[in-house]
Amino acid sequence: MSATELSMIAYCDLAGFVRGRSVPASDVEARTAGVGWVPANQAINCFGALAEPNPWGPVGDRRLLPDHETRVRVVGTGDRPPLDFVLSDAVHTDGSPWDACPRTFLKRAVDALRAETGLRLMAAFEHEFQVVAMVPHTFATPEGPFTLQAQRDAEPFAGLLHGALAEAGCEPEMILPEFGPAQWEVVVRPAEGIRSADRAAILKEVVRDVARGLGRRATFAPLTAPDGIGNGVHVHLSLLDDEGRNVLHDASSAGGLSALGGSFAAGLLRHLPALLAFTAPSAISYLRLTPHRWSAAAAALGYRNRECAVRICPVAEMAGGDLGRQFNLEYRALDATASPHLALGLLVRAGLAGIREELATPTILDRDPGELTGALPGDLPAALAAVTADGVLRSWLPDELWDCYRSLKAAELAEVEGLDATAACQRYTAVL
Ligand code: GLU
Ligand code: MG
Repeated sequence: MSATELSMIAYCDLAGFVRGRSVPASDVEARTAGVGWVPANQAINCFGALAEPNPWGPVGDRRLLPDHETRVRVVGTGDRPPLDFVLSDAVHTDGSPWDACPRTFLKRAVDALRAETGLRLMAAFEHEFQVVAMVPHTFATPEGPFTLQAQRDAEPFAGLLHGALAEAGCEPEMILPEFGPAQWEVVVRPAEGIRSADRAAILKEVVRDVARGLGRRATFAPLTAPDGIGNGVHVHLSLLDDEGRNVLHDASSAGGLSALGGSFAAGLLRHLPALLAFTAPSAISYLRLTPHRWSAAAAALGYRNRECAVRICPVAEMAGGDLGRQFNLEYRALDATASPHLALGLLVRAGLAGIREELATPTILDRDPGELTGALPGDLPAALAAVTADGVLRSWLPDELWDCYRSLKAAELAEVEGLDATAACQRYTAVL
């Protein structure tokens, strides 16, 4: 008997999980109507529980319509079959867009940016994660941060991962053993609009698969222990005009940030409390967003400053050429419990609102803000309440999507209610 090579027609959902249905790999292209999908699947949280009530219950059907440009096929090592899947939009059975689909949400946001400003979004998601041994919660490599030793001890992990990410179309640039135990960071090249968020969804699956092939498990939990090192996701943003010029950059302005870039950053900060409900969307995300973790404790714009939610990233002047090509704003208050599509879509909407209102550039912090935590909500319930309070942000969310999201998060919070911080981190680490 020989095994069939399968490809999953997959969907990156509100919990940031890739779920779907598999068909023979050779059939994917021919499935022009995709595969069936159940709308209530959207209400499955990261712990695998179906949140109820949700807007659909047992009723209704959708299709997962693959975007063939996202097809991933990474040939496995040894006798492991290839990792093969393709990302989809969830659509109605007649093919029309479904309001609750996060990928559709991002497409609409990027289109709105383009229609209103003529600008194109470029983005790159930088991920941190830890590679734990198969025995839960024990770490594989106790070697020092950033050391060659840590990298060599984990061989052949880093090289295999780089190769697999390249094969998956993620355009990896750099891999490094990060500060925490068995922690790694991967930097990929920026991609336009929706492709950048697709890349984030794909990257997590590739990382997990390479770790799995080596008998390890990768976790993207924002924290594996309350006093541990955070696993952040930082998204680097730039906006290009039709000539390919990055309009966030103006060498003559403070920090190199143009007036338009300042407005974009101000839009992000204005909506930050509500944005956190989607970018730091787990119960333990808020343990990471605390001072002195170099995560994003300060609701501020920083110049090359890693404590701020929004950072003006460095450029290497020595590289010469057009510095605008390197210049970008980094949103740091993000972690991998988010849907990359929904999160990025909301960042675009918030930045666009800042541009529309011509908001002034916020104060640029170039020192450690210390305890200055500004208006950051302290936990997920507070961030969810901030969504209701922020009528502007709330108006960007289709009702169906928000109703489902609220229910999803309520069910997730109920799962960890009563657990202390250590147990909650372990609970998330086990599923992420
Ligand atoms: N680990 C930090 C975080 O949780 C980021 C450290 C860095 O700047 O790379 O976001
Ligand atoms: Mg890092």
